[in-house]
Amino acid sequence: MNSSTTQKIDIQKVESSRIGEVDFNNLIFGSTFSDHMFECDYKDGAWQNPTIKPYGPLTISPGAKVFHYGQAVFEGMKAYKDEKGKIWLFRPEQNFLRINKSSVRMAMPEFPREIFFEALTSLVKLDKDWVKPGLGNSLYIRPFVMGTQVGVGASPSTEYKFMILMSPAQAYYTGDVKVVIADHYSRSANGGVGAAKAAGNYGAQFFPTNLAREKGFQQVIWTDASNHQYLEEAGTMNVFFRVNDTLLTAPISDRILDGVTRKSVIALAKQDNITVEERPVLVSEIVEAAENGSLKEIFGAGTAAVISPVSAFSYKEKTYELDKQDDGFATRFKKELLDIQYNRSEDPFGWRY
Ligand code: PMP
Repeated sequence: MNSSTTQKIDIQKVESSRIGEVDFNNLIFGSTFSDHMFECDYKDGAWQNPTIKPYGPLTISPGAKVFHYGQAVFEGMKAYKDEKGKIWLFRPEQNFLRINKSSVRMAMPEFPREIFFEALTSLVKLDKDWVKPGLGNSLYIRPFVMGTQVGVGASPSTEYKFMILMSPAQAYYTGDVKVVIADHYSRSANGGVGAAKAAGNYGAQFFPTNLAREKGFQQVIWTDASNHQYLEEAGTMNVFFRVNDTLLTAPISDRILDGVTRKSVIALAKQDNITVEERPVLVSEIVEAAENGSLKEIFGAGTAAVISPVSAFSYKEKTYELDKQDDGFATRFKKELLDIQYNRSEDPFGWRY
């Protein structure tokens, strides 16, 4: 861990809030930001000048490394308001650990725990009115880090900026999610950066995802880059398959993001005595299960939509439809997770913060 500072966060408040200008009933995900943002710079081997200031543009040299070599990582988490107006985060420790894991993989310095949590709680408290009550409403929190040293030499930046932005979000209805199973493009490779939330992982998926969209599918389920034999994860979600009453999901590896929702679903399933197999899942076994009727559900798990049931998948130009399961595993885990996140149930695992 890099030298932490005991520096206090310098807080510069907005003169007047923009909240009155926001239509909270018509939000486009991730495009409206709250009044304040957090910024901290890494220079001379230390994180310095942690500051909360009004949300606004940055001045960064066009020669900064991030623009040339993509040294950038990010996180995604949410704040939820319960019926009494109290605000909760869900397992933020996991996001803290993961952003540092991502940074290490991208040759970037780790961020100090103390400043991370102080920044997070101070920001959420300052902009608490931006967290709207009601199931599904939340404040999406986006920590990110980028290399800011000026110089187009292909070497790691010696200077970085760590920031946190917050964006109000409404209940996220994914509707009918249809997916394509990748048989040509791939998202990540052995020894690559798939397990990191590196910005470039996402940019690289846009083109193949657009091709899937043109065919009427919303997402791609990525397969292993070697032979496209094993199912891995979707663009921003881990994926579960329910075959009869067993839940299957790919094991975490250096190709797959260690999702917070994924590990929470596994814990809930185990608590409910559902058999969970974390093991390589063959495309062929899922196709076979779809054909013989034992494939009951496929669903994605991720912070944005919590759980997204998949209604159909396509593989090598053939489409397999799944019956809608109103009281299936997806519905059950979504409810259990939302109840914990919004403080509507017990928190047996101590996930609320
Ligand atoms: N996989 C990928 C590639 C992702 O970007 C995300 C979103 N962070 C997930 C899975 C789900 O992770 P989490 O449950 O932590 O949001």
